[in-house]
Amino acid sequence: MKIGVLALQGAVTEHIVSVGKAGAEGVPIKRVEELKEIDGLIIPGGESTTIGKLMRKYDFIEAIREFAADGRPIFGTCAGLIVMAKEIAGGEPPHLELMDITVARNAFGRQRESFECDLDVKGIDEPIRAVFIRAPLIEKVGRGVEVLSEYNGEIVTARQGNLLVSSFHPELTDDYRLHQYFTDMVQAARNVGA
Ligand code: GLN
Repeated sequence: MKIGVLALQGAVTEHIVSVGKAGAEGVPIKRVEELKEIDGLIIPGGESTTIGKLMRKYDFIEAIREFAADGRPIFGTCAGLIVMAKEIAGGEPPHLELMDITVARNAFGRQRESFECDLDVKGIDEPIRAVFIRAPLIEKVGRGVEVLSEYNGEIVTARQGNLLVSSFHPELTDDYRLHQYFTDMVQAARNVGA
């Protein structure tokens, strides 16, 4: 099973390592044609405006929407979460508009630039280690969205069908259980498609 990591900008290598620990093969995705070869896609953290611009420049917007419509799972972390949202608070134009959430950028940055914590995530037995870096938070979720974790009452992990998002960077620790969770989603989607 192959999981691609969108390699336009941001933390790509670390995701590939975590995918490997979770028992799948991680591959960098630089061109839209490469989406054909993968079963699931991770959109990494970085800077969402830059990732959005590069996605437009290299024709990824439509291609990733089709990938999702095809039932193949997508996992967005931090900036990846922002580009998947239907709405960005403050009126900034959204990018992929895939997930029924409203996000606020740099929402924790106002308090603290970055921090780590142990986080309870629905569907994962013990708390996972989470690293937040100028992280966004999910202000609002639509009806089809399941909240998987909160930090200080703010939503930081959510799922809508085959779409998964986290405000934090699960790839920056040795704890690969959220990648395992995503790999299980990809496996289940493959079973449905088979
Ligand atoms: N602050 C970044 C943004 O708004 C996201 C930060 C990250 O991905 N670590 O795009």
